[in-house]
Amino acid sequence: MKLLRVGEPGAEIPAVLDGDGTVFGITDVTADVDVAFLASGGVDRVREALAAGTLPRLEVEGRRIGAPVSRPGKVVCVGLNYRDHAEETGAAVPERPVVFMKDASTVVGPYDPVRIPRGSVKTDWEVELAVVIGTQARYLASPAEAAGHIAGYAISNDVSEREFQLEYSAQWDLGKSCETFNPLGPWLVTPDEAGDPQALGLRLSVNGEVRQDGDTKNMIFDVAYLVWYLSQYMVLRPGDVINTGTPAGVALGLPGTPYLRAGDVVELSIDGLGTQRQTLINA
Ligand code: ZN
Repeated sequence: MKLLRVGEPGAEIPAVLDGDGTVFGITDVTADVDVAFLASGGVDRVREALAAGTLPRLEVEGRRIGAPVSRPGKVVCVGLNYRDHAEETGAAVPERPVVFMKDASTVVGPYDPVRIPRGSVKTDWEVELAVVIGTQARYLASPAEAAGHIAGYAISNDVSEREFQLEYSAQWDLGKSCETFNPLGPWLVTPDEAGDPQALGLRLSVNGEVRQDGDTKNMIFDVAYLVWYLSQYMVLRPGDVINTGTPAGVALGLPGTPYLRAGDVVELSIDGLGTQRQTLINA
């Protein structure tokens, strides 16, 4: 099942996309796809309503698609989680996950413009598999318990300003939390439909040129391990997002590759999770 949110920012209507590509509104089931919806078993209620055939069709042609989760509580990111990306940045392959936080208000829709921050000359891209938490995960006993806490998966663009990230501060946060720096979606795809999260091709192009072409099987720490690991240090709550790292092919890793400029178009896709497309504009 694929959940989505349709409409202008702050006024999105929750919806579900069925196997035939038809979109149905789910406002009879929930006011939004948010923390309360996920925490109360809302996904199962949508599944029942879809099976019962009682949901109204929703016209989405020409309408904005929002992020598939409203106001996530936090966005936790994992850095250097693909061997080829760690190597291209000159970083050692980590022995433990590299964890940092991203301001959750950076989350925008999958086709919304991305703003190049004022003063930026190194705005970069990162296609990533995003994990959305469905039920609270706290001190999980083992990675095997992780699956029961995952609501689904989505595409994430962990947009990064490399000068702010690496040259202005010892911590990465400054270059990760600029406005619009986390396009998410178009859908929240439930685990039964997404399949094995470690067998998904992911790719990104800039102005039609392929820059990243990876596979989640090459993650150093897999999804189950990351959810378990993070739960040892923080409480993961419904609606929280984990960006699980990016494969090789970012501008930082390819000397001579131009960073993003206004007018550039970035396209991202992950097998089964849809596509994103953003145009860069100046903040
Ligand atoms: Zn990242």
